[in-house]
Amino acid sequence: MSRRPAVVGSFLEELEDLSRRSLLRKLPDALEAPGPLVRLDGRELVVLNGNDYLGLSRHPRVLEAAARAVREVGASSTGSRLLAGNLSLHEALERDLATFKRCEAVTLFGSGYLANLGVLGALVRRGDVIVGDRLNHASLIDGVRATGAHVRHVRHGDLGAMDRLLAAPCEGFRWIVVDGVFSMDGDLADLPALLDLAARHEAMVVLDEAHATGVIGPTGRGSVEHHGLTAGDLDRLIQVGTLGKALGGYGAFVAAPAWVREVLVNRARPFIFSTALPPAVLAAAREALAVLGDDPGLVARVQARAVFLRTALADLGIPVPPGETPIVPVPVGPADRALDLAARLRDSGVLVQAIRPPTVPPGRSRLRLTVRSDHEERDLERVVTAFRQELARTGPWWRDPDPEVPCSGKELDAT
Ligand code: PMP
Repeated sequence: MSRRPAVVGSFLEELEDLSRRSLLRKLPDALEAPGPLVRLDGRELVVLNGNDYLGLSRHPRVLEAAARAVREVGASSTGSRLLAGNLSLHEALERDLATFKRCEAVTLFGSGYLANLGVLGALVRRGDVIVGDRLNHASLIDGVRATGAHVRHVRHGDLGAMDRLLAAPCEGFRWIVVDGVFSMDGDLADLPALLDLAARHEAMVVLDEAHATGVIGPTGRGSVEHHGLTAGDLDRLIQVGTLGKALGGYGAFVAAPAWVREVLVNRARPFIFSTALPPAVLAAAREALAVLGDDPGLVARVQARAVFLRTALADLGIPVPPGETPIVPVPVGPADRALDLAARLRDSGVLVQAIRPPTVPPGRSRLRLTVRSDHEERDLERVVTAFRQELARTGPWWRDPDPEVPCSGKELDAT
């Protein structure tokens, strides 16, 4: 038998080290199908670890539209948009999304990760300056790194630090890159203030709307609608939205002024060199948007569920921040405790995700709970009861996090 390649041992050591530090990632139990409730080992669990905020991934109209597209158009787009892959369905969905986002032009991408890499890679050039928030999503962090521009991340929400960094001389152009709704904290960027900063410093804003699309703003149009901004405010704004979260499908889009689409089609490598989204996915997304348009109550329901759960947990004394986004962070602290707590809640019939470094900073492990518009109040009451039992058993488990280390002026290693 041949000797084991040396590289294997080095990875096994690394994985063992992660395991010792409670940082090893394992796939959770496979589900038969997603939903607000699932059955596992013969028991019903309330699902609080997905992003299907409006329950659209299994909406009958969405399923029927996807099935019809497969029958009538096919299983694949068969190529990049620049080859044979440009279907009428792509252009129809882009028009629908442009109307929904009230912007000039939309460009589809294979996923949110690819869209962030694509937008940043296409628009930002060496010599430019990027200022980001240190809690930005990993795809933005990876995207800005790949540009070769000067990158600085500021403490979460520190617009003063952004202002100072943007004021420095710069030989190229300036970019502000942030999440609209932060994916692990569920709080919002101050978009009006960021656009104001951008106008003062001749900068552009790239806003990741993955967790804002379909979720915030009275009709789910995202941060622009939530903050009451209008068309005149959008010249400096490039939004990236995903289809795989509240819209219940897969893929992503860039919503921006028309010139951005021209640049993306010519320069965004994930757009140019990757097979276009398939018909079923396109038709599902169009129908999901139509369902959202027909029933804006969906958005109000998920927001109300979020307020209900946040308030009920806060009433137990758990330091859950107020807000209306469906991402409800429950602080823990050390990674091993977050894993233990998630396992005990699972035993009580509640499926939650423990979030650990490097997804969140060290010492800030937490549970990330996500509510859906189709969670019934009694489901969420089961969740609150499970937390109440844990509190009775262990007392408060959270620790005051260490003050955040200011990191402006320094590139991040991992977020
Ligand atoms: N941005 C944010 C803020 C996200 O949370 C995610 C997904 N976790 C993405 C981008 C990537 O989107 P996708 O899953 O479509 O690749």
